[in-house]
Amino acid sequence: MLPSFFDSLVSLIVKTSTDLPPDVRAAMAVARAQEPAGTQSSQALAIIAENIDLAVTDEGAICQDTGMPTFEVTAPVGANQLVMQTQIRDAIAEATRRGKLRPNSVDSITGENSGDNVGPGTPVVHFHQWENDSEIEVKLILKGGGCENMNAQYSLPADLPNLGRADRSLDGVRKCILHAVWNAQGKGCAPGALGVCVGGDRTSGYEKAKAQLFRTLDDINPDPRLAELEASIMGEVNRLGIGTMGFGGRVSLIGCKIAALNRLPASFFVSVAYNCWAFRRLGVVLDARTGDITRWLYRDPAIPAVAMADQAGFQRTGREVVLRTPLTDEQVRSLKVGDVVLLSGRAYTGRDAVHHHLMKHAPPVDLNGAALYHCGPVVAKDRSGWKITAAGPTTSIREEPYQADVITRYGVRAVIGKGGMGAKTLAALKGAGAVYLNAIGGAAQFYARAIKSVDGVSLLEFGTPEAMWHLTIEDFPAIVTMDAHGNSLHKDVEQESARELAGIGT
Ligand code: SF4
Repeated sequence: MLPSFFDSLVSLIVKTSTDLPPDVRAAMAVARAQEPAGTQSSQALAIIAENIDLAVTDEGAICQDTGMPTFEVTAPVGANQLVMQTQIRDAIAEATRRGKLRPNSVDSITGENSGDNVGPGTPVVHFHQWENDSEIEVKLILKGGGCENMNAQYSLPADLPNLGRADRSLDGVRKCILHAVWNAQGKGCAPGALGVCVGGDRTSGYEKAKAQLFRTLDDINPDPRLAELEASIMGEVNRLGIGTMGFGGRVSLIGCKIAALNRLPASFFVSVAYNCWAFRRLGVVLDARTGDITRWLYRDPAIPAVAMADQAGFQRTGREVVLRTPLTDEQVRSLKVGDVVLLSGRAYTGRDAVHHHLMKHAPPVDLNGAALYHCGPVVAKDRSGWKITAAGPTTSIREEPYQADVITRYGVRAVIGKGGMGAKTLAALKGAGAVYLNAIGGAAQFYARAIKSVDGVSLLEFGTPEAMWHLTIEDFPAIVTMDAHGNSLHKDVEQESARELAGIGT
């Protein structure tokens, strides 16, 4: 049965991972037009735009965190869901084998990566039925961990930082949403899009919130009360000044979609699903007899995607600081928050497993003067060796418990990541002479091209995303957001946006 179902699903997965839907592109184009040229947010959006184009051209993953695959399947009554479920899992494994998805499914107890994105709970597949004998609808969203970690659930009434009391009312809901956006800052790869559910229980609320991400960003909520709330949030939230990647700027959110479920009288939950700018969501309608794709959802293949970038390449302003590793104490201390660095030379990747390892073991390479890149790349091996096909930064704050020790013990001079780090790392940067460089979250294709060669790998037993890759990088652009003088752009933007939040909230 359904002889083409597997191939159609592979096409859907590959397209979703590599080509943003038109409504998201349009919203990002509007965001780009709003940020003044030369600002950090504007430069970040230029890199994002180029990244979106490169992903389409090379059919590469838009972001190296290819996310949790979540399918919504609506099929005729009586369709064999067991067969579809098996073929969806097989299609996920095939897309992973082709390098379109990073192996992202790990055993929660042992940490072992399944290698093919298949395991208990991965992928997520929800089945629904309809009285339509001739068609099967499959929708897919790929939502990465950085933004998933920024989801939030509030139980009203509550006292919210900077916003005061949030009551069981639409105004209380509004405060929860504002708080969620403020809290995500650069960690969720802003500008983001929200799915929100008012009510339900803790489980159904989150599920309904995520389901709102299947709405297009430009639709109008049929409930006029929620339509009004969506519009007012979009008007207010961009006054927070969070900007792209939390660098400060005019656009913090590209969409807000709200639904409501009935609740128990004793409960009032507000569930928020935060999606990053790499908002990968597509769908297909299939012939229910063959499984062939009869049409796409969210996109019209007859209309070619309009290029996002207006000029080829990252546009230099002439103010960039060009550096090559190994870095010296003097070079690093000359940098200050806001500087744009073009870094060349040796960089090593290291994320959770590597940092944990370095607490008890000497590093497998000399890290003196080195750049340590918080990155879990998508890696493929061919006859000529390893190739990195997607390599954006991962959320740095996860390494906060380890980073200060790694810097001071091993002489690391530059930590590259996204979202910034905490007070302990800031103190270590100052004490040891090192900087934190914020790369643009999700710009996996862009940064893969700044990697000129993969020269080796250590700790491969941790799996390809967690291994320590030895890279030669060339003109790798990143912004100094924490310097060796105790300054942090993240802290500044957080404090300023908190003041704005307090003003908006009242
Ligand atoms: S853009 Fe950022 S938050 Fe989104 S999947 Fe990529 S790394 Fe994660």
